[in-house]
Parts: sequence; C-alpha cells; structure tokens
Amino acid sequence: MCETTLEIHLPNLRHNYQFLRKQLAPDTKLLAVVKAFAYGSDAIAVAQCLAEQGVDYFGVAYVHEGVQLRKAGITKPILVLHPQAPNLKTLIEYKLEPGLYSQRIFDAFLTALKQTKHEHYPIHLKFNTGLNRLGFLPEQVTELVSQVKQNSKQLQLKGVYSHLAASDDLKEDAFTKEQLSKFATIAAQIKTTYPKALFHLLNTSGVMHYSSAQYDMVRTGISLYGYGNAPEVDRALKPVLTLKTVISQIHFLTKGASLGYNRAFVASRATRTATLPIGHADGIGRIFGNGKGFVWIHGHKAPLLGNVCMDMIMVDVTDIDCQEGDEVLVIGADASAESLANAVGTISYELITGLSQRIQRRIID
Ligand SMILES: *Cc1c(COP(=O)(O)O)cnc(C)c1O
Repeated sequence: MCETTLEIHLPNLRHNYQFLRKQLAPDTKLLAVVKAFAYGSDAIAVAQCLAEQGVDYFGVAYVHEGVQLRKAGITKPILVLHPQAPNLKTLIEYKLEPGLYSQRIFDAFLTALKQTKHEHYPIHLKFNTGLNRLGFLPEQVTELVSQVKQNSKQLQLKGVYSHLAASDDLKEDAFTKEQLSKFATIAAQIKTTYPKALFHLLNTSGVMHYSSAQYDMVRTGISLYGYGNAPEVDRALKPVLTLKTVISQIHFLTKGASLGYNRAFVASRATRTATLPIGHADGIGRIFGNGKGFVWIHGHKAPLLGNVCMDMIMVDVTDIDCQEGDEVLVIGADASAESLANAVGTISYELITGLSQRIQRRIID
C-alpha cells in the first residue's frame, strides 16, 4: 500500500549532471547548488551522489545548510551564497566559504576570522551587476582589492562572482549582455592582482544561453533536478523528483452537493471525487484549488475540486476508472513540475522547494 512519497531518483540526477558537463568546456568547474534541501529533495543524498560524480563545488544559501552537509561527511568546497553576520563563526568552524556581498559582512567576517588562527581563508566576493539584490558595486573593485591585499595573511581571494537577473528570458538579452560586460570588466581588473581567483557567473539558463561566459566555474541548480526553464532543455533532462500519493477514499456527489471547506465546490452534475492525503502543509498551496491544479491517475488528468485543505485535496475522478488505494502522480516524468507550477502562475523552483519536510522522502538508486 502506498502513501504520499517524494522519490528522489539518483540515476536521473547523474544523467542531468553529465548532460550539464557536456555543455561546458572540459576545465570549467561545476558548482552544484543544493540550497533549500537541494531544491526540495534531499541535500545530503544529492550532495553525496554528485560528490561521487566528481562535482567540484557545492553552493548553499545559508550557513546551517552548509553545516548539515559537513556533518554528513561532505568534504568538497562549499560556497555560502548569503551568509549572515551572526553565523560567521560557525561558517569558519565548518570550513565553509563565504560569498561576501557588502562592506558590513566583509568587516564582520574579518573580525570573526581574526579571532581564530586561520590563515589564507578562502573567500568569494559577490558583485551586483544588475540584479540589485546582493553584492558590491563594480565601482568598489579597487577599494576591495586593496582591502583583501591588506589582509593577505588572513584572506585568500578564492572566487569572484555575480548573478544574472534574466538569463532565462531572451527578451532581456540586451540587459543580460550588459551584466556580462560589467562582469568582464570586474574580472579583468581583479585578474591583474589575483590571476588564480575563480570567476563564476552563470546559473542554469546562463549555461544554456550564454555559455561563452562560463569563466572558471558555473553554478547550476534547477537543471540538476531536471528542469531547464525551456522546453528544449527540459527534453534533455530527467526529473529527479517524483511525488506520488494515493486515493484514500472515493465519494459520490449528487448534483447540488458541495465539497470541502466553505463549500467552495458545488456539483453541477453527479460527480465522483477522490480524496488524497496531501495538502497545503505538504506544499500544495491553496492556489492550486478550485480547478487550477491537477494530478494524474492512470495517465488521466484529474483537476482539484474545492479548497485545498491542510492535509488533503479532493480531485474529480468522474470520468476516470480508479478505486481507493490506487496510485496518484502529482509530479514526475509524465507530470512536469513546470506545467503544474505554470497552471497557477508560478515556476518549478517554487513548487519543488515548497514541498514540505512532512512528505516522506525515498531515495531511488
Ligand atoms: C540559486 C542560485 C543559483 C542557481 O540557479 P539555477 O537557476 O537554479 O541554476 C546560482 N547562483 C546563485 C547566486 C543563486 O542564488
């Protein structure tokens, strides 16, 4: 008997990793982004699998995500993309590499580092080339290089990076090219002093559309998990996540009967419904309710009826031959997270990272 399960298919992860490798020059390093539980999957299982594949680097958003990987025995370099001042001591303790993005965090890091005996501690400098989210400004390059030099006993400039705002949107090509050009200027300036630093700019869609700007390393997340922000890329990738559930119970509604909280659905015909053990507490938000979202039963599309509950959804199976106990596919190879996300105006990233920790994970290898 099945229940709600999120399968993590490691062979598909390996396939996606190898596909990405083929898009890169042989000496370009690959940083696997495993933030947010490896995009809703299982950060440890994913990191261990990719480490065996020979991935060069890992990236996480926050310090505690890096700590979790270290505690699981991951020894590859780990870049923390968004370190917070209160966690810098922990970051150093676990040999994580900070992406320093402002003078405040740079100073806080140096202060924390000087309380230890570390020398030549690897850091990355993050530049804002147009996303306007995190990062030093290009005008600060000279000043920063001199600060790093002044502290050359403590600091090793291991990397320099920026992040693209619209690499998936070719309508914004001119804007992206401006970002590429700003980063090229920054890289050229820094290279005169630090020729060995790793320069890195591209995310998944950057690799697909602006591959000539791969520099020394790329940072890919979503494509490793099987989604490429473009149908032609999606076809080359294999989804790592399969979200399955089961029909708990079947109900028959006569015309005029209502279903679920606030009676949001009222049957306009005799309707057969299936109740499934997955709800908004699992990451299937209320936005999917009332006909917007859907699941797949024996290959047939079954739309959600009424409001999404915390622990359950109800779907329309009037025209589907199915019974209690049958398997239901929510996300998987024939049920793309991208299409389900698009049906409610969001993206694969939000849907998969939102799959809550309540759902049992099962590693398939
Ligand atoms: C999340 C993130 C990535 C990965 O982006 P994908 O589109 O998932 O490949 C890369 N770089 C930074 C700075 C990020 O925050």
